[in-house]
Amino acid sequence: MAYKHTIDNDLCKGCGLCVSVCPKNVLEISNQVNNLGYFPAYQACPEDCIFCTTCCIMCPDVAISITKVVGEKAD
Ligand code: SF4
Ligand code: SF4
Repeated sequence: MAYKHTIDNDLCKGCGLCVSVCPKNVLEISNQVNNLGYFPAYQACPEDCIFCTTCCIMCPDVAISITKVVGEKAD
């Protein structure tokens, strides 16, 4: 089963919690500001993501989701 990891750019306030808890160091803080005026997290190394869901659980703004991808390869 393939999975897709998504960060909602406009929900993220750039707190960095997800970055600090990721066991694979997948996430970084962007240098591009979002619509809220924050620097959001993004997957700098998406190929290293093991879809453990730790970042989703930690995000206080529920900005991260992991969904099953049926019938196609995940990003
Ligand atoms: S799902 Fe796990 S490995 Fe992937 S970015 Fe989140 S914390 Fe890191
Ligand atoms: S924990 Fe949530 S709000 Fe904080 S940087 Fe990560 S995605 Fe953004």
